[in-house]
Amino acid sequence: MKVLSVNAGSSSLKFQMYEMPEEKVLISGVFERIGIDGSFYTIKYNGEKIKKEATLTTHKDAVKILIDELFAYNVISDLNEIKGIGHRIVQGADRFDKSVVIDDQVIATIDELSALAPLHNPAAIIGIKAFKELISDAVAVAVFDTSFHQTMAKETYLYALPYEWYEKYQVRKYGAHGTSHKYVAYRLAEIEGRNDLKVIVCHLGNGGSVTAIKDLKCVDTSMGFTPNAGVIMGSRCGDIDASIIPYMMKQASLTPDDIDTIINKKSGLLGVSGVSSDSRDVEEGIKNGNERCALVQKMFVRRVIDYIARYYVLLNGADAICFTAGIGENGISTRKEILDGLKVLGIEVDEEANNCRGKEVLISKPTSKVKCYVIPTDEEVMIARDTYSYIEK
Ligand code: AMP
Repeated sequence: MKVLSVNAGSSSLKFQMYEMPEEKVLISGVFERIGIDGSFYTIKYNGEKIKKEATLTTHKDAVKILIDELFAYNVISDLNEIKGIGHRIVQGADRFDKSVVIDDQVIATIDELSALAPLHNPAAIIGIKAFKELISDAVAVAVFDTSFHQTMAKETYLYALPYEWYEKYQVRKYGAHGTSHKYVAYRLAEIEGRNDLKVIVCHLGNGGSVTAIKDLKCVDTSMGFTPNAGVIMGSRCGDIDASIIPYMMKQASLTPDDIDTIINKKSGLLGVSGVSSDSRDVEEGIKNGNERCALVQKMFVRRVIDYIARYYVLLNGADAICFTAGIGENGISTRKEILDGLKVLGIEVDEEANNCRGKEVLISKPTSKVKCYVIPTDEEVMIARDTYSYIEK
């Protein structure tokens, strides 16, 4: 059975087609610059990557081309072979604690939540509608980035702000990257052969979040009301003193939109280093003696250590710490710096094992009191799994 995993952004659309339940990737691709000059798409098939230019005025244009390519590559011979389409949705707030089959009511609720994710939820709806129009018989499933975090206790997800802000404006912690954290926790349970695990998952990519997980359920996570909170990220600031915002708005005559841009797109690694939001460029800067690159690296590592330490206490110890996403999977020296800062917990890094990129590896020594793993994430397969489970039902 064929299932599509879809991630629609405001000007992009990524897809991966699976043969389920084998979880075999048949073809994948990404459409970029939809609605912008210079649109193009890339298809990955049989280990080969092909880039093509195309006029992509709307997401529907992208879906049409996607279907043509599926036929051209002989991945399908009839549209009816596609039994399910899973859509990644960034914000489900407290309305969805699991993936759901999409109907008009679900679309209306995702739309209602757009105020909480103005860049992402409207784009996802456009994607859902484009697929519904062109592949109408497939079961469409919404998979939310937030639903894994819905098990947090109220005292964990509430901010000490006026209670009406929560009641009237839904201001609370929702978290993000839930699909990734869930994937890693479940994969670890497979590796360890048990579910009763206390795990700290560090999803460190361009965006970053750390999550405390007990018995495969989220207890706390570092991202908050939006994906801006928590650890330092590529261009997002992570946790700051909230009073900086009104102060800087007055000092530099900044509007709410200016502030939004600065804390999301001009802060983090980029803001402090002044060089780049990409950790590889920061690493290069450090090699070339750039002091601000060295400074932001120390800040980044410090903040991750703080969250791991906090969650270690919250969970009353931990069986494992797992690293995933771009930096988590590839940042050899960053992982070592983080784990060296946690020696007090009896953590011992196996330097030879840690010298790896993008592979599933145990990177702690047998004598380490906490096992440390690199587990490459796979959000797409989680989306396909949830979609498949609804088709099976
Ligand atoms: P993601 O958002 O998961 O795609 O991760 C993006 C981040 O991962 C960027 O900061 C990249 O610099 C980092 N990253 C990706 N690949 C590598 C690599 N091979 N070595 C070091 N960092 C990497």
